[in-house]
Amino acid sequence: MFCPQCSSEYREGFTVCADCQVDLVATLPPTDSDKRPNMEIVTVFDSTNPALIGIARTVLEAAGIEFLAVGADGAGAVFSGNPFLGRVRLQVEKDHAEEATALLSDIAETEEPLEDEPPH
Ligand SMILES: [Zn+2]
Repeated sequence: MFCPQCSSEYREGFTVCADCQVDLVATLPPTDSDKRPNMEIVTVFDSTNPALIGIARTVLEAAGIEFLAVGADGAGAVFSGNPFLGRVRLQVEKDHAEEATALLSDIAETEEPLEDEPPH
């Protein structure tokens, strides 16, 4: 897998460049600076609150918008069963950014950020 932005090579299993926060691709596009890949990734949600991240994820899925979840260290965050650690960014293609931002701003208005859980 390669980063289309910085051309770094990654082992299988990586999906996002740790440096550029962009989707890795199986093959590098032709190096033509005039031809930018038509897919740009935009961060539309950024939170350290697992509850809000979960809501945002659900909203994007319901809207049929594909997204990436990127952890604070740049590694792809895995939703299935793994707890979020630290800040997570949700990223979508630029074409969907406006729609996603609108959907997620609704969340921000209706869902107050949760307080940290009190100690048990
Ligand atoms: Zn890169």
